[in-house]
Amino acid sequence: MKAAVVTKENNGKVEIKEVDIRPLEAGEALVDVEYCGVCHTDLHVAHGDFGEVPGRVIGHEGIGIVKEIAPGVESLKVGDRVSIAWFFEGCGTCEYCITGRETFCRQVKNAGFSVDGAMAEQCIVKADYAVKVPEGLDPAQASSISCAGVTCYKAIKVSDVKPGQWVAIYGIGGLGNLAIQYAKNVFNAKVIAVDINDDKLEFAKELGADLVCNPLTDGDAGAWIQEQVGGAHAAVVTAVSKVAFNQAVDSVRAAGKVVAVGLPPETMDLAIVKTVLDGIQIVGSLVGTRKDLEEAFQFGAEGKVVPVVETRCLHEVNDIFEEMEQGKIKGRMVVDLKK
Ligand SMILES: [Zn+2]
Ligand SMILES: [Zn+2]
Repeated sequence: MKAAVVTKENNGKVEIKEVDIRPLEAGEALVDVEYCGVCHTDLHVAHGDFGEVPGRVIGHEGIGIVKEIAPGVESLKVGDRVSIAWFFEGCGTCEYCITGRETFCRQVKNAGFSVDGAMAEQCIVKADYAVKVPEGLDPAQASSISCAGVTCYKAIKVSDVKPGQWVAIYGIGGLGNLAIQYAKNVFNAKVIAVDINDDKLEFAKELGADLVCNPLTDGDAGAWIQEQVGGAHAAVVTAVSKVAFNQAVDSVRAAGKVVAVGLPPETMDLAIVKTVLDGIQIVGSLVGTRKDLEEAFQFGAEGKVVPVVETRCLHEVNDIFEEMEQGKIKGRMVVDLKK
């Protein structure tokens, strides 16, 4: 089968080549991959940013059909449509795994990094960890929900924003646009979209954002949001920028919560006085559990959240990486493995 494999040099490229798939072991299933989205994380893996993994099949936004199951597997059957996500498998027994926080398992396996992923014609999954894709959800759109979608859904959940309350979303890119949709259409919150690009803010309005703020023209987003609505109840930061994190802290009202999702390689400034006197909470949120993904898929199937996707071919993965590095990509690039 054809697969996109990290090069020997781990130089930010993949090689498209024939790879043999090993026989199934206990608890596993073989999946014929239909679609796999290309994510910034794949680019990090190809560059060796999380450790070098030459020869690894990338891909953690995979959707496919179960072709074969190992003897004894009961959680899946042949013909099921399932996902292959970044959270590939936890140990199942540690304090995180048994308390609904499995993504923080210290023994976690990640598809397309610590195990072979889904940017291939076929992929092996741990059956109990492959989340089923519900009827009515387009598989190319599902691939985007399996990573960006569930990440945003979980972040809004973690923010504790209640119906009618204000949530500020910083960064309206591939994650932020989905965060707006989950916040509006699932959590029934009021949304303030913050970005330095007016086109993205226009898009945010189309998606239903109640207010939009461009810090380049409206000034500091923290002060602007305090003035407009008396501070947001929560903020979700998908922007890869320290400035956005700092403005997010300034934009929440007392007892507000700031959820960190973006990963700028910097530290944020945090005024201790404001944190203490206003009872601010700052918390990180990482992808989502199997249950979160099941829910995120369901809202997609109900049409409450519609990812913007464009399908491409497997041999174009390096081109997509280049476009990504040049910031040219709008929506999600999804490789159609049947093309
Ligand atoms: Zn991803
Ligand atoms: Zn564990």
